[in-house]
Amino acid sequence: MSTCHSKNDRPKSPDACPVCDVLIRSLDKQALEYYNSCADCALYFADINKAAWDTGWRPSEQQIFARLQKRKEEPFFYVNDKYI
Ligand SMILES: [Zn+2]
Repeated sequence: MSTCHSKNDRPKSPDACPVCDVLIRSLDKQALEYYNSCADCALYFADINKAAWDTGWRPSEQQIFARLQKRKEEPFFYVNDKYI
C-alpha cells in the first residue's frame, strides 16, 4: 500500500489551488500554508490585497481567468527582476 500521502501530523494538502484550481507544486507549499493558495495566487492576488484577503475576499472568476491566460505565456521558472 502506498503511503506517500499519509502524514498523520498535518492535514492533507489539496491537489489543486483552492483559488485558481491549478495543480499544487512543491514551490507552492509556503503560499498554501500562509494564504491557502498557490504561489502564483499569493503573488498576484493575496499579497497585493492582503487586508481584503484576510477577510475572505477572493479574486473573481474573470480575474482568475485573466491571470491563467497570462501564466500560459510565462516560462516554467522565474528569474529575479535584477537579472532581467
Ligand atoms: Zn492559485
